[in-house]
Amino acid sequence: MTKAVVIGAGFGGLALAIRLQAAGIATTLVEARDKPGGRAYVYEDDGFVFDAGPTVITDPTSLEALFTLAGRRIEDYVTLVPVSPFYQLRWEDGTRFDYVNDQAELDRQIAALNPADVEGYRRFLAYSEALLEEGYVKLGAEPFLDFRSMLRVAPQLMRLQSYRTLYAKVASFIRDERLREAFSFHTLLVGGNPFATSSIYGLIHALERRWGVWFAMGGTGALVAALVRLFEDLGGTVRLSAPVRRIVTKGNRATGVVLAQGEAIEADIVASNADVVHTYAHLLGETARGQSEARRLTKKRYSNSLFVLYFGLDREVPAELEHHTILFGPRYRALIDEIFNGPALPEDMSLYLHAPSKTDPSLAPPGKSAYYVLAPVPHLGAADIDWSVEGPRFAEAIFAQLDERAIPRLRETLVTSRIFTPADFASELNAHLGSAFSLEPILTQSAAFRCHNRDDVIPNLYFVGAGTHPGAGLPGVVASAKATAGLILSGADREAAA
Ligand SMILES: Cc1cc2nc3c(=O)[nH]c(=O)nc-3n(C[C@H](O)[C@H](O)[C@H](O)COP(=O)(O)OP(=O)(O)OC[C@H]3O[C@@H](n4cnc5c(N)ncnc54)[C@H](O)[C@@H]3O)c2cc1C
Repeated sequence: MTKAVVIGAGFGGLALAIRLQAAGIATTLVEARDKPGGRAYVYEDDGFVFDAGPTVITDPTSLEALFTLAGRRIEDYVTLVPVSPFYQLRWEDGTRFDYVNDQAELDRQIAALNPADVEGYRRFLAYSEALLEEGYVKLGAEPFLDFRSMLRVAPQLMRLQSYRTLYAKVASFIRDERLREAFSFHTLLVGGNPFATSSIYGLIHALERRWGVWFAMGGTGALVAALVRLFEDLGGTVRLSAPVRRIVTKGNRATGVVLAQGEAIEADIVASNADVVHTYAHLLGETARGQSEARRLTKKRYSNSLFVLYFGLDREVPAELEHHTILFGPRYRALIDEIFNGPALPEDMSLYLHAPSKTDPSLAPPGKSAYYVLAPVPHLGAADIDWSVEGPRFAEAIFAQLDERAIPRLRETLVTSRIFTPADFASELNAHLGSAFSLEPILTQSAAFRCHNRDDVIPNLYFVGAGTHPGAGLPGVVASAKATAGLILSGADREAAA
């Protein structure tokens, strides 16, 4: 029986492991940390359950597909519930915008800000739907292995003006600055700067409108647990607290991995869901291929990092607070520029506040509520910040903002908190420069210009996850697993090796 090892149990690694195991490949998933999920780790503090990362579940059909291909039903493993509004957006001037999936209600809210933008929004939505069809439905799970594959899609990309930035494209449809922000901030959810990233990422808007925004009861951790259970039900093996120290190669083939503890696991196929620079520089650092690819990848641009503050309150969720809230700061373009390019930690901030107890009170002890708030911040290469000093100070500044704008009396009712900084992304997740989303999604780093789903030189070494096509975000990494599994299962590696 063919054997595979998948390094890393993030959503991408889990989705790939399920696809391989379901196809009859004996798959072992090896994860460095003590729990699966990767960025979707779970903290349990004083009776509060905190999802560490992804909270906005979009395109549930891509997750359902993992269950149906294995002959199972997702409902038997986890309960997904729709969230409405998708997000509430708040600006400092007091404006609030409930981003809902109801056209009439959206029109009403857009008209309240600028009546002329109702028509502009419709044109933007039509554009976004065209992007979704082309960029996600048709090409999302397509492995781009060479420049020729890019040339094939170039005409569609030109037609959709993907050479323009998302913000420029949104601004061509919509006049009101707040609405421009409302329909361009989405790229920040996948590590993209709306002023630099290709307008192709405008597809996220239509993706949310088409399939909705969902939440897993029990938190995203319950979704991770469901995927692990599915994988194990199929006969797969999960090894936790098992960091891989190196990928073993013989000639130009990978033959397995060696764990930090010294144990060797042999395999016919090796796939890495770990950070792409970490994989080449450290796990393949003794090979010429590892060294040259690491050198090439370290010259690329990496997405921003995040500062995440998890906290629990001795009170229920304020009635006015929605499940997902975006609090825009006083600056948009200039703040984003500093987040992506440094050189320092900006004094102002824009925040995403997650209040899961609104939907699922079981995530906190009775009468209490769980939250996290995140601020995009520069990665470790863009700003020289001592996070052991700045972290607690920044947390205080964020609490002050929340107290004023979203959760009155926050500090008096605070019972637990913890932070996760760019330094933690680097040390806990082996993330290059502490980036939260891997390679920055700009046009020159998309599709064939991202890390390929199969290594160009080692034909049975594969990649899956945020550093590969189509990129970060749960729909992205789950689609990348489909692309990678497609290559493996079509026997493409055997052809390439021949
Ligand atoms: C705070 C935050 C909020 C987010 N919110 C959302 C959201 O709401 N919706 C959304 O769709 N996306 C969101 N994202 C993005 C999304 O979470 C990520 O893009 C996605 O989860 C990345 O998955 P991945 O498969 O690339 O692997 P990762 O989650 O990065 O997992 C990689 C795994 O590899 C393991 N690993 C690394 N090195 C080794 C080694 N040597 N040996 C063994 N294992 C190793 C790591 O421990 C980790 O478990 C968010 C991200 C963050 C950080």
